[in-house]
Amino acid sequence: MSVPVPRDELEEARRAQLIEVTIDSLADVGYVGTTLAQIARRADVSPGLVAHYFGDKDGLLEAAFRTLSRGIATRVRAALALAGTPRGRVQAVIDVNLAPEEFDRRTGTAWLAFWGQVLHVEGLKRVQAAYQRRMLSNLRSDLRSMIPGEEARSLAAMIAAMIDGVWLRAALSQWQEADSGSARSLLTAFVDGRLRDLTQPHGAAAASATRSAPASGAAESGSHKVSGTITVVNPATGAELAELAVDGAAQIDAAVEEASAAQKRWAALTGAERGRVLQRAAQLLRARNTELAELETRNTGKPIQETVAVDVLSGADCLEYYAGLAAGIAGEHIDLGPKAFGYTRREPLGVVAGIGAWNYPLQIACWKSAPALACGNAMIFKPAELTPLTALELERVFAEAGLPDGLFQVVQGRAETGRLLTRHRGIRKISLTGEVGTGKAVMADAAPTLKQVTLELGGKSPLIVFEDAKLDNAVAGALLGNFYSAGEVCSNGTRVFVHRSIRAAFIERLRVRAAALRVGDPLDPRTQVGALISTEHMEKVLGFIARGRAQGARLITGGNRVTEGELARGCFVAPTVFDHCHDDMDIVRREIFGPVMSVLEFSDEDEVIARANATEFGLAAGVFTNDLTRAHRVIAQLQAGTCWINHYNITPVELPFGGVKMSGLGRENGRAALEHYTQLKSVYVALSDVESPY
Ligand code: NDP
Repeated sequence: MSVPVPRDELEEARRAQLIEVTIDSLADVGYVGTTLAQIARRADVSPGLVAHYFGDKDGLLEAAFRTLSRGIATRVRAALALAGTPRGRVQAVIDVNLAPEEFDRRTGTAWLAFWGQVLHVEGLKRVQAAYQRRMLSNLRSDLRSMIPGEEARSLAAMIAAMIDGVWLRAALSQWQEADSGSARSLLTAFVDGRLRDLTQPHGAAAASATRSAPASGAAESGSHKVSGTITVVNPATGAELAELAVDGAAQIDAAVEEASAAQKRWAALTGAERGRVLQRAAQLLRARNTELAELETRNTGKPIQETVAVDVLSGADCLEYYAGLAAGIAGEHIDLGPKAFGYTRREPLGVVAGIGAWNYPLQIACWKSAPALACGNAMIFKPAELTPLTALELERVFAEAGLPDGLFQVVQGRAETGRLLTRHRGIRKISLTGEVGTGKAVMADAAPTLKQVTLELGGKSPLIVFEDAKLDNAVAGALLGNFYSAGEVCSNGTRVFVHRSIRAAFIERLRVRAAALRVGDPLDPRTQVGALISTEHMEKVLGFIARGRAQGARLITGGNRVTEGELARGCFVAPTVFDHCHDDMDIVRREIFGPVMSVLEFSDEDEVIARANATEFGLAAGVFTNDLTRAHRVIAQLQAGTCWINHYNITPVELPFGGVKMSGLGRENGRAALEHYTQLKSVYVALSDVESPY
C-alpha cells in the first residue's frame, strides 16, 4: 500500500529536482547556455512547467543560488552550535565556507557562474547581499568577544574578503592553486596572527588609544574611560559561558554613525517592505526556538519549560505583530474648509537606543527593536551585562532576515556603556527596562540632548482577591504572579491582598501548591523554578526573607536557599510565602525581584484600594472576583498601568504594557508603542491665493 504524498511535498520535490538540474547545467554549459528549455530537456519535463515554478531564467537561477547559499547557512549554523568558544565559532565560519564540497567542480562552477552575474541581476544581488551580511554578522559578533568592536568589525571584513578571495583564485585556476585544506590553513594562520597582534600588549595599547581618541564630539564617557571585558556566567552552575569586550566611546560613535547611514536607507522603504523583513526575522526566531531557549536558560537560570514556551516565541510574536502594523503607519487628513487642508506625517525618530534588563533578555530586545524598526528607525541595543548572549543572536537573525547592515546593532557593557548611549547627541530616544533609580539616571542623562525616553521600571504590584473569587484561579494567579521566572518579573503581584473571610482557605491551598513547586536544574524540562540571576542578587533576596521573619511575618513555606546536590553550585531559592504581613514591612514595601510573596488581609473594598495604591510604584495590578461590576469599579481606581481581571501576568503583544507613577513613562507593545518611536509632522496645504495684509 502506498501512502499518498501531499501535493505541497510533490511540488517541493519537483522544484528541488529542477534546481539540482540547474546546478548541473551551470557546471556543464555555463550561465549563457543554461536556459529554461535546456533545463526542461535535461529534467525531461515541459519548458512550461519550469516557467510555472520559476517564472523566467533569472527566477530559476535566483532559486538555485538561494539553495546553495541556504545550504552553507545551514551548515554554518550547525557548526556554530557545536563550537565551544568564540574563536571556535570564527573557525566554524571559515571551515564551512572553505569546506571540500565548496571546492568540488560542480558546486564551484555554479558559484562562479553566479558571482559573474551578481552585478547585473537584481535577484542574485539580493541573495549575495544576504549571504555576505550573514557571514559578516557571524564573524563580527564572535570576534567582539575577543577584541574591541571596531577591530572586530574590520577583522570580520578582512576574513570575509579572504574567504571569497582564496576561493575565487582556486576556482579561476580550475582548483590548481588551492584546495580546501590549504585554503583553511591560510585563513586560520591569518586569523591567529591578527588576534595575537590585537591582544598583545602593544595591540592593547593601540586599541585603547583608538577607544579614547576624541570621538566625533558625540559620545561623552563621563569621568573615566570605558573598557575591559564582561565574563558571562551560568547562574545555575557558576560555569563561564563567554567573555565579551566592553564597548567604549569610539565603538559607540562608530555604531551611531553606521546606524545613521543605514536608517536613511531603511526609512526610504515602504512600511510593507520593512514588515516583510521583520516577518522573516520572526520565522527565523521560531525556527531556532529550542536552541535559543536553551541559550537563554543557560544565561538567565530560568527553567527551559518557560524559555521554550515564552521567551523566544513572545519575541517572534512581537516581530510579527509590528511586521503587520508597519504598512499601516500613517498620519491623518485634516479638513480646514474650502481653502486649505492639512495632513500629518508619522516619521521615524532616527537612531534610537534600547537598554535591557537581565530577566527577559531576548524578549526585551524584541519588544524594543520590533516597533522601532517597523517605524523606520535604527536601533542600538545594550543588553544587561549579566545576560548579553541572546541579543547577539537576535542581531544575527536580523542580518539573516535581510535587515540592512548597521540598522540593529548590539553593544556590550555596563552602566557606563549605557550612559554613552543616553548622552549621545546622535541618538534621539532611549527605551530602558530597569530599576527606578536607573530610570531617573537615564532621564537626567537624556535631558541635555532632549531625548525622548520610554522607561519600563520596577514595581510592587497588588493582587486583590475578593471573597467571591474562584479560589483555585486566585491561587493560580498568585503563583503565576510570584514564582514564574523565580519571581524575577517586574509586574509581579507580590502584595497579595486576600479578603479576611477566605484568607485561611486561600493560604492553605497556596501553601500546598507552592511547596510542591519543583526547584531544580533549569535545563530539566520538569523544573518549574530555576536559579536566580547571580549570587549577589540571591543574597539580596535572602536578606529580604530574613528581614520579613525579623519583622514578624509568618513563614508559610520556603524561606531558604536550595543546595541539594548539584544545586549547591547555583543561586536557587525556594518559593517563599509569608502570611500575616503588614503594609509597613520591608518585604511589602520594596521590590524584591525574587520568589517571595507577601499575603495581607483586608476587610472592605475602599480600604484595599487605598492600601493597594499606597506605594510609589504603579506598574501593574490584579483583581480576582466573580462580580464584574466590582472588578471594573476597582480597576478604575487602581493606580497601575497594566491590570488583569481574574488572571495575572499575561502580556499579549497587542495590549500596551507599562507603568504609572515611579514605574515608568511611555508604553511598550500595542499600537501605543508606534507613537513612542515616531514623531508627527504637520503640513498645511493652501488651496487659494495668499491673503496678506502687506
Ligand atoms: P538595572 O536598572 O540595574 O539595569 C537595567 C539596564 O540599564 C542594564 O542594561 C544596565 O546595565 C543599564 N544601566 C544601569 N545604569 C545605567 C545608567 N546610569 N545609564 C544607562 N544604563 C544603565 O535593572 P536590572 O537589570 O537589575 O533589572 C531589574 C529591574 O528591571 C527591576 O527593577 C525590574 O522591576 C525592572 N524591570 C522592569 C520591567 C518593566 O517592563 N517595567 C521589566 C523587567 C524588569 P548593566 O546591568 O549591564 O550594568
